[in-house]
Amino acid sequence: MSTPTPNSAEARDVMFHLHSQTNAQAHAANGPLIMERGEGIHVFDSQGKRYVEAMAGLWCTSLGFSEARLKRAAAEAYDKFGFYHTFNHKTPAATIDLAEKLVALSPIPQAQAYFATSGSEATETMVKLAWVYHTVRGKPGKRKIISRDRGFHGSTIVAASMCGMPRMHREFGLPLPGFLHTLCPDAYHGMQPGEDEAAFVIRLAATLEELILREGADTIAAFIAEPINAGGGIIVPPAGYFPAIEAVLRRHDILVLGDEVVCGFGRTGEMWGSQTVGMQPDMVALAKGISSSYFPISAVILGKPIQDALAEMNKGGEIFGHGFTNSGHPVGVAVALETIRIYEEMDVVPHVRAMGARLRAGLDALAAQSRIVGQVRGAGLMIGVELVAEPASRTAFDPALKIGARFDAEALRNGLVIRAMGDTIGLCPPLIIDAAGVDEILDLFGRTLASVEAGLAQPHTA
Ligand code: PMP
Repeated sequence: MSTPTPNSAEARDVMFHLHSQTNAQAHAANGPLIMERGEGIHVFDSQGKRYVEAMAGLWCTSLGFSEARLKRAAAEAYDKFGFYHTFNHKTPAATIDLAEKLVALSPIPQAQAYFATSGSEATETMVKLAWVYHTVRGKPGKRKIISRDRGFHGSTIVAASMCGMPRMHREFGLPLPGFLHTLCPDAYHGMQPGEDEAAFVIRLAATLEELILREGADTIAAFIAEPINAGGGIIVPPAGYFPAIEAVLRRHDILVLGDEVVCGFGRTGEMWGSQTVGMQPDMVALAKGISSSYFPISAVILGKPIQDALAEMNKGGEIFGHGFTNSGHPVGVAVALETIRIYEEMDVVPHVRAMGARLRAGLDALAAQSRIVGQVRGAGLMIGVELVAEPASRTAFDPALKIGARFDAEALRNGLVIRAMGDTIGLCPPLIIDAAGVDEILDLFGRTLASVEAGLAQPHTA
């Protein structure tokens, strides 16, 4: 990052631009990192420095940063028209094709697709559909939503209420009433002494059921979860977690909402994260990988019981009173269709498994040489490396040491973009990565780890 000088792009950014998830004071002091262009898995900053983008931006650019076919698909869609919508019985022609394609790929039988433009809109749409479902079935009191500590579901008010992170709630007075949280299935830190994973799963399910009984099952509409938590630190649930949780939820007539915004479209080494973890959702939210984020588009895939509830409502003459101007936007739809065509042509699932295994093996080898790697975890091309003070006892670093932030700064110096979530280092590279790209990440990761480890005695200054 270069320090702002008057009238520089850096100074104008500090003056005119409020950034997401950023401390503006630190931003003013350090200046922005201005990115100018991308090429495959690499991006280049305004000084011409090259980085491996090992986070695919925000867990999203699965096809890398320069896929010409997506640019062409957008241009051809714009040749027809710049906009059309899906309200009042109208539809852009290509939107029908994407709905059909998503339903064919879907983990949910006899599904339909609903379109929106962001992950937050998709997760909130699922909440409204869950409310319709219960209301139409004569249970309008079923309103509350259960999510999990360290889950992430978006930034709008209901989506943020469903997040399990203090920074998404604090100054906003969230969560809204009726948005409840249960335990995160983090076996590494969450298991009690003497507990194994099977016992941990039983406790997680029992804790969820206690919450449901305490609140009253007749007040609870749905439970939402990412198959594998992304932003919460790449938490892979222990074996048997979702079947155990879902048995409790079904017993109390509570819908299961899957947030596949990060995990969907091959990321975890299956087409859907729900397949990787044995989850059977009633609805899922899709975004990011659906278009490799070349255009803002998201979707909800809804199962037959939800459609039946909507049909009941319609019989009474009511419409589904919901929709976004850009739902099913023809340009986003064209980009998504082309993105999915590319996933199919590259046979994305076995490719992700092979590249994920290579990345994982390399990280495991680095961990074996390191004093500060507690755990390497993940699935497919979504991997977290947790740094701890003492691996044997799983003792975390003193937060004041800001180990994750040090790693992030050092990685950037080395030309590697990662995501530090506390002291867990996230890697989620574009799915098009090849063996040479994986090896480049491993080389830069290894060098960064070595210098962070060597610098542990020094105070953090960045
Ligand atoms: N769900 C998950 C799992 C996410 O990671 C995100 C975004 N990082 C969202 C929902 C929200 O998506 P958006 O930012 O497009 O609203």
